Amino acid sequence: MKKRTGVCGAWLLVVASSLMSARGALSQDVGAAPVREIIKVTERLYRFRETRHYGVFLVTGNGIVVVDPISTGVATWLKQELSKRFTQPVRYVVYSHAHSDHASGAAVFSDTATLVGHAAMLGNMQPPAASAPLTAREKLWDRNTDGLVQPDEARGTLYEADFKRWDRDGNGGLNRQEIWAVRFEGEVRAPDITFTDRATLRLGGVTVELMHLIPNHTDDMTLVWLPSERAIYTADFLTPNRLPRTDLDGGILPGWVEALRQVEQVDFDIVVPAHEATGTKAQVTEQRRYLEELVAEVQKSMRSGLTKEQTIEKVRMEDYAHLLEYEMSRAANVRGVYEILQSMQD
Ligand SMILES: [Zn+2]
Repeated sequence: MKKRTGVCGAWLLVVASSLMSARGALSQDVGAAPVREIIKVTERLYRFRETRHYGVFLVTGNGIVVVDPISTGVATWLKQELSKRFTQPVRYVVYSHAHSDHASGAAVFSDTATLVGHAAMLGNMQPPAASAPLTAREKLWDRNTDGLVQPDEARGTLYEADFKRWDRDGNGGLNRQEIWAVRFEGEVRAPDITFTDRATLRLGGVTVELMHLIPNHTDDMTLVWLPSERAIYTADFLTPNRLPRTDLDGGILPGWVEALRQVEQVDFDIVVPAHEATGTKAQVTEQRRYLEELVAEVQKSMRSGLTKEQTIEKVRMEDYAHLLEYEMSRAANVRGVYEILQSMQD
């Protein structure tokens, strides 16, 4: 979804810090050289970054575990950096979920590594037929009920901005397959090992716990828990100190709230997210409260008969105005919850 220029390798630490604001990070997505860096978080845990995206790696005495390779370009760069700094090979690549902006590129490590992800990734990676029906939520957008989402119907959605690019058959409307491609198409290699509920990786005396969460941002989401570092890694469904992105496209309710509650039960101190700065356990609770209150407010508004537009006007969530991207995502979050709840009624 982002244009990658291929200019790489620069350790732009000063530039990196100046791009940490949400608006800065967004505005330099297109056209600018990617910012790449490696940041130590705990004794064994590091983040690696490309601009807005972060993955992590854990270094043990007997090998390295990489989580979310991001892209083939990032994975290639990371592999070089790891070989300069450490003698251990990458033994595992773990996927948080199948979205291609996090999961692409693991093939770079497959000479030494086993790829691990949740079983639902396999289904999500399969492109649907072009003639497959739209999802319940996409049907809400499809006002002329022709089975496609035209530009006027895509207004305000994730598919508005690059519409022509995703409309591959050029028929002026996005079918289910074209919509799927926006999130899932990429250089994603299927996991070698899948799990359904929990899995434990043991390497060099260190344990990595993989926990499938109640369906939230996607249905294939893995929480990566690193007990030795007192840390968790979370992608997209939980970004501390920031609103969930835009209109919660593909999101699942009330599972998303319940998944955040699951995370609150885990024993850790540091949240290391796939976007933005690291956070605290208290910020997990703040996220859960935000989403829980948002859903309750939108439900109340729907029950009193307000339209989607009236609900967007009414539900301000001002207690959370201090969170990053409040201005950008508040209205879209309200619309998203409204549409998800509406699509569940049909
Ligand atoms: Zn995602």
